[in-house]
Amino acid sequence: SSVIVWFRNDLRLSDHAALAAAAGTGAPLICLFILDEAAAQSARRPLGAAAKWWLANSLRTLDRELRKRGQRLILRRGDTATILVQIAQEAKAKAVFWLDSEIPAEAACARQVITALHEIGVETHISRSDLLASPSMIRNKEGHGLRVFTPFWKRVRALGDPPPPLPAMKKLPPSVASVESESIEDWQLEPLHPDWAGGLRARWKPGEAGARKKLDAFLDDAIDGYASGRDDLARDQTSHLSAHLRFGEISPRQVFHATRFAAAHNPALSHDVEKFLSELGWREFCRHLLFDQPDLHRQDLQPSFDNFPWRTDRAALSAWQQGRTGYPIVDAGMRELWHTGTMHNRVRMVAASFLVKHLLIDWREGERWFWDTLVDADPGSNPGNWQWVAGCGADAAPYFRIFNPVLQGEKFDPDGAYVMKWVPELAKLPPKLIHQPWEATPMELAAAGITLGKTYPAPIVDHKAARERALAAYRKMRP
Ligand code: FAD
Repeated sequence: SSVIVWFRNDLRLSDHAALAAAAGTGAPLICLFILDEAAAQSARRPLGAAAKWWLANSLRTLDRELRKRGQRLILRRGDTATILVQIAQEAKAKAVFWLDSEIPAEAACARQVITALHEIGVETHISRSDLLASPSMIRNKEGHGLRVFTPFWKRVRALGDPPPPLPAMKKLPPSVASVESESIEDWQLEPLHPDWAGGLRARWKPGEAGARKKLDAFLDDAIDGYASGRDDLARDQTSHLSAHLRFGEISPRQVFHATRFAAAHNPALSHDVEKFLSELGWREFCRHLLFDQPDLHRQDLQPSFDNFPWRTDRAALSAWQQGRTGYPIVDAGMRELWHTGTMHNRVRMVAASFLVKHLLIDWREGERWFWDTLVDADPGSNPGNWQWVAGCGADAAPYFRIFNPVLQGEKFDPDGAYVMKWVPELAKLPPKLIHQPWEATPMELAAAGITLGKTYPAPIVDHKAARERALAAYRKMRP
């Protein structure tokens, strides 16, 4: 008889307790990934377009790595429990192994799988999830999850370091030849006509080796100064690990321990290291919020926002999506997102704030757009951060604090290098004007080859008027 490892958001071979346990039985091994698109039934949110691109490439990479070890990845599409039962019967499997997940839709799906497998007498072995701390361990006296980040993170850290990661699996038992795989091409996860993924291919290397490279490069070159440099848009001082973490190509435990190890040799780094680890903490915080609120992408965490007077404005929404708002820092971010599937965290905050405050458009519209276009689109971090920016989330910035996109640009992109890269039609403006081209004189505009409203949009809203409108809407919402 054989055993099955069911891969989900854990597309890696190292620090994979379920794979290690299954391989440890010595039985022939089936490595399985199931694409279950029956979202209505499983409450799982269908992946966005950029995340599908990532998934296709990550699965290909995982298959290649498995083949180096005499194994292969079996791909199947359909209802998860039905497929697992079918393969278990076909291959006379005695057990299925997987990593636990605290994502509510994943957990619900796993419960169905457990029932279905036990009915046919197949064992289930579930290893600890990838989170640094399980939500069940971080509760207040009433048994609820924490809604404020600092005490949350203190509690997580007070649990001590997470267990050290397991080493990579160098050898694996043989595969079961009779089990057939579908082809990744048939799943059509990648765009064909038109093929808009060129920017993604140029920017990313999905898979475990790519993740490890990013982590090593970050610890070698960028952790030193991370705390102060992470907001500098022209500098490349963040880890770029978010999509790798999203698909489990690297585990938070691996990142945690590698970072601590790097710091152990250099105590001067401790401030940067703590800051970086606390960002992993925000990821964790969002996952814990999701655990308590499975419809985090729909439901305001603060019910007082349920009757916020959002506006419907298709033209403004589409200008924002396409990077044509007339605010250079917002447009640069939205274009970076479209071309590369990512956006710098600082600009995500500014662009998101612009949508919900300057345009008064419901945060759920922005969240949906990010969900579709981000390679790291995460069921916890995306809605969690959108709610945070909108003011209706956990530990949120108060709604009445409204980012000024010009000042944000001047502060975090003082030379305009970020804007020049993504909004090249403004590149010839002097840095003092690049974040507010409407302040340029006709001569300055002519010298830079710009006609506002033609070569680059005039601002779609006036900052001061938009700010007043947002504050009035906020006052109206409050009882
Ligand atoms: P680093 O600065 O190197 O941080 C290390 C890791 O910490 C990241 O890889 C990420 O896993 C985690 N992290 C950092 N900041 C945050 C944060 N604010 N919230 C949660 N985790 C964080 N991140 C996602 O992973 N997926 C999303 O869908 C997502 N949507 C966002 C939407 C909005 C409106 C905003 C403001 C932020 C969003 N973020 C999201 C958080 C953050 O912008 C990205 O995690 C970060 O930019 C990724 O770059 P990095 O890996 O270089 O980060």
